[in-house]
Amino acid sequence: MDAPLPALFLSHGSPMLAVQDSPTGRFLDGLARHLPGPRAVLVASAHFNAPGPVVTAAERPATVHDFGGFPPALYALEYPAAGDPALAAAVAGRLRDAGFDARTDPEAGLDHGVWVPLRRMYPEADLPVLALSVDPWRDAAWHYRVGQALAPLRKAGVLVVGSGSFSHNLRALDGRPGAPVPDWVEAFTAALRRRLLEGDVAGALDWTALPAARLNHPTPEHLLPLFVALGAGGGAPAGLLHEDVELGALALDAYAFGLHA
Ligand code: ZN
Repeated sequence: MDAPLPALFLSHGSPMLAVQDSPTGRFLDGLARHLPGPRAVLVASAHFNAPGPVVTAAERPATVHDFGGFPPALYALEYPAAGDPALAAAVAGRLRDAGFDARTDPEAGLDHGVWVPLRRMYPEADLPVLALSVDPWRDAAWHYRVGQALAPLRKAGVLVVGSGSFSHNLRALDGRPGAPVPDWVEAFTAALRRRLLEGDVAGALDWTALPAARLNHPTPEHLLPLFVALGAGGGAPAGLLHEDVELGALALDAYAFGLHA
């Protein structure tokens, strides 16, 4: 039998990632070459928030341009991936079996946390794509359990991705060239990275106890997809696939979980 796909955590950065050259863009451009070919992609996105897990179930999900103040070219981009309503129903069923109040949404489209990184990874848009919500009112352990319920999908050829940001304080961004990375970003990202690489799942789930946690994530939605990926990948240790910091304070780590499971 083929080895299961890993689960991934990707930092999606600014929407400009869709069109700009950058180290993170180039990383995503080459990432699919290192993975077995999936039959579908399920992305837990920081930008899809709902109480309880919701899975998109449109036949042809719309490309949602859920951002403001960017160049017109960005609003013209489409990511015309198909949906997979049958797979969406199966995912929601799996989550309900695990005790979650999960449902499908036949109307919801793909937010930019989904389509921006996938447009770099799979530019042909030739794989069915489902989005999965995160619930900012629930903690890391809850999202880890959501991921655990999804882990068997990896053996069925579904690439499970968490799309967020390893740090995400938009008020602290610094657009000056060569802007220094603040100490509080270094302290938090180094501590969380170490827990992931060492396989310290409990320590990672307890992320609010890490240095400057709330300064790096004033709201949790951009970190919660990490815990979905962590659970789907069977826990740590993680493989660090990529690291970069943009705009001074936006850490863009990417991880694979379950590479050797
Ligand atoms: Zn975002």
